[in-house]
Amino acid sequence: MLRVAVVGSGPSGCYTAQNLVQRDAEVRVDVLDRLPCPYGLVRYGVAPDHEKIKSLQGSLRTVLEHERVRFLGGVRVGDGAGGLPVQRLRGLYHAVVYCVGAATDRRLGIPGEELPGSWSATEFVSWYSAHPDAADAGFLRGVRSAVVIGVGNVAVDVSRMLVRSAAELRPTDMPQGALDALAASELAEVHMVGRRGPAQARFTTKELRELGALPGTEVVVDPAELTLDPADSGALPPGQRRNLEVLRDWAVRPPSGVSRRIRLRFFLRPVELLADDGRVGAVRFERTAPDGQGGVTGTGRYEDVPAQLVLRSVGYRGVPLDGLPFDAASGTVPHVAGRVVRGGTASPGEYVAGWIKRGPTGVIGSNRSCAKETVTSLLADAPVLARAEVPEDAVAALRAAGIEPVPWGGWLAIERAEAELGARLGRSVVKLSDWDTLLEAARSA
Ligand code: NAP
Repeated sequence: MLRVAVVGSGPSGCYTAQNLVQRDAEVRVDVLDRLPCPYGLVRYGVAPDHEKIKSLQGSLRTVLEHERVRFLGGVRVGDGAGGLPVQRLRGLYHAVVYCVGAATDRRLGIPGEELPGSWSATEFVSWYSAHPDAADAGFLRGVRSAVVIGVGNVAVDVSRMLVRSAAELRPTDMPQGALDALAASELAEVHMVGRRGPAQARFTTKELRELGALPGTEVVVDPAELTLDPADSGALPPGQRRNLEVLRDWAVRPPSGVSRRIRLRFFLRPVELLADDGRVGAVRFERTAPDGQGGVTGTGRYEDVPAQLVLRSVGYRGVPLDGLPFDAASGTVPHVAGRVVRGGTASPGEYVAGWIKRGPTGVIGSNRSCAKETVTSLLADAPVLARAEVPEDAVAALRAAGIEPVPWGGWLAIERAEAELGARLGRSVVKLSDWDTLLEAARSA
């Protein structure tokens, strides 16, 4: 039997485990996660109102319930107190696949970024997704106008969540605190701002269109900002063409007089966050112009957009894991076809899949082919890897290292506790949002 550890139980970890057990009947997989809950960004990143995407948890669950797959929650791989160092983990299994995603956000690197009221979209998403590390930072207190920097799908998600009403969010599994805060919000305007033109926006048309269908909210687009780069004067790729059709349609719609607006802006590069009474009060943008090659140049003209909340939605970034090589420029682990590269050569027994391998791009399904490539490399190395002596069951070694994993039954107990909480609140399932409550529920199993 080949014993494999997969670190991370998000889509890339689950697809890796699935591919391994489907392709080789002689493989057993432990899927480790530092959280007591599985599913990674499907649980803690996909917006709560995207129920269809959330329902993917059902197929990931099937993987984790496979007879040769075992979920071990509450196991943090890495140095430091309570962690399992990479080298120690490597000795417990024939192979380890790191599917740890891109756990942090990219920075803007402009003055004022640290002002109170300025957050990464990741922090905001974590809060409304009940991530146990997220803080209730009073994101919405006193906010009339918000600026979302970036025009990718995460920017669309947070803009939509900012304007959704409590009635629309109540049926979701959003934590009660976040629901109450959004219900009390007096926010009237969200400015979602791209530094380049509409043809360079990264959102997908389905997600974009959804903004136009939100009750009580209108989308405002300035026709003057729908200019195309001369480089785009030929046929645009279908996705970009469809985005432009949607934007052009919105640009000619008369105002509807509803109470909330999402203003979609383009050709504005953030240069500074301006303070007002010790917290963010506005974002200063420099107007840009197309440079003829899909990029932009500054024009020396500036515009200040008032905002008491700024969400930087400019992409995720991988975090180095002690003991694993890391390419700081790309925020990924160097690899060849999924094999981790150490000192210029592929290191048999150590693999990567998902965002830590290829960077934070693509949709959830992109992780399937990514995992398949990595598993192909691993299975090719298997005859050599299988010669190593490893423990029959790594859990005993984890316990000896002072780590008590949360088993699948512990996660099922968390699910039951979330259903009970929802029933008490007169809602459906409501997520538990702090470590103590999650671990208490898990231990009740
Ligand atoms: P993204 O798609 O890479 O978009 C990042 C945005 O930030 C771009 O508009 C980018 O503009 C802008 N940006 C980067 N640096 C900037 C700077 N210094 N100043 C101003 N703007 C800056 O990232 P994401 O939205 O975080 O999404 C990550 C991945 O998750 C994507 O593959 C996305 O499709 C996926 N996702 C999918 C869904 C869904 O399917 N519903 C939901 C959420 C996320 P430039 O293009 O000019 O660099």
